[in-house]
Amino acid sequence: MSEVTVLDHPLIQHKLTLLRQKQTAVAEFRQIAREISLLMCYEVTRDLPLETVEIETPLEPMQSRRLAGKKLCVVSILRAGNGILEGMLDAVPSARVGHIGLYRDPKTLKPVEYYMKVPEDIGERMVIVVDPMLATGHSAAAAVARLKAAGATQIRFVCLLSAPEGLRVMGDAHPDVPVFTCAVDRCLDDHGYIRPGLGDAGDRLFGTK
Ligand code: URA
Repeated sequence: MSEVTVLDHPLIQHKLTLLRQKQTAVAEFRQIAREISLLMCYEVTRDLPLETVEIETPLEPMQSRRLAGKKLCVVSILRAGNGILEGMLDAVPSARVGHIGLYRDPKTLKPVEYYMKVPEDIGERMVIVVDPMLATGHSAAAAVARLKAAGATQIRFVCLLSAPEGLRVMGDAHPDVPVFTCAVDRCLDDHGYIRPGLGDAGDRLFGTK
């Protein structure tokens, strides 16, 4: 099983409630998703390694700390992951960005990749994979497998909501990948929606329904 962290910061929980409400309109949903993602990024990166460097303030030299190593990489699972990506980049503007597109084959029901572009040196970076909804877990597990095949070794998965089913699938497939989520909801319904959930995250972000 993966390590699962529920992000229970009061600001995160407040914003999650706004996202869940059906009367929250598209522009507001998108803006709140961006705000909550910035806060999630703050929590997910709280143990990043630091190094000490010599700097000069206007008054005197001093030793100060900055992030060590290569810039992190945020990978969005298309399309709803893009609604989380924006807020992550608000928190870490110099992060590198990757995208993975997957669709479900109607015959096999397995995720099939239709797009992938990530930094060539992804193996040297901390990778934060973002998708608002960890539902069945199949797309998330497939995306993480593709990133590992591309060389990624340090991966974290971030979502707004997760279902117990999705957490199980991710944990079985990738026990080394910690999951950060704002809530673990009750279950998946027969259509693969998380209950009580927030509906279709992509449609609510992009106004496609
Ligand atoms: N994807 C969504 O957008 N919503 C769900 O509830 C499940 C998967």
